[in-house]
Amino acid sequence: MPVCNNELNKRYGISLTYGKVMALKTPICSFDAKTGVLCSKCEERLRSKDLTQDEVHASIVLTRLAQRYSEVDKITLVTAFKVETDFVLVMRGSDLQLIRTHEAIRAETARQFGARVWMVESDSSDRRFIENLLYPRRVLSVNLIWLPDGNKLTRAILDSNRTSDLGNDLYKIQRIAKKIKDIELLVEHKK
Ligand SMILES: [Zn+2]
Repeated sequence: MPVCNNELNKRYGISLTYGKVMALKTPICSFDAKTGVLCSKCEERLRSKDLTQDEVHASIVLTRLAQRYSEVDKITLVTAFKVETDFVLVMRGSDLQLIRTHEAIRAETARQFGARVWMVESDSSDRRFIENLLYPRRVLSVNLIWLPDGNKLTRAILDSNRTSDLGNDLYKIQRIAKKIKDIELLVEHKK
């Protein structure tokens, strides 16, 4: 039975991934991500919903990318979601900077996933999460609007007065914000 590195990581706080200190970490063990076949432990986690099919898929694709790009080999993928046809990768905050500005990696990531790929930071505030989705646009402010019926909207104001700037992205960003953080997002432009 293959050894599940994630289990060992959890128990001892160490990475046994080929003895490297810096190596891509994903929700499944690295052996599984490399072979594309889940070990019995990860298979059981998938059955018990401790792991999702989206996380498994993202782990395998990123592991393939890590073989070509050393930057990808440094990241920690926390979780991943498929939202309609797009993929959202949730990673450690510092990791986002490593690959977000790297045009070739972004393009190849989209190609390998066969989808539009969004990257956001884990453990971030709602504001940060919204900034990540709207990147590279600059967000001036984020505030809550309470509706008379008790529901709330989250309004982000962009430092741009071009209303056509977002286009179809706005719809996608709103769907992602709703699915992952249950945020009803409203995006406005600086007047
Ligand atoms: Zn495993």
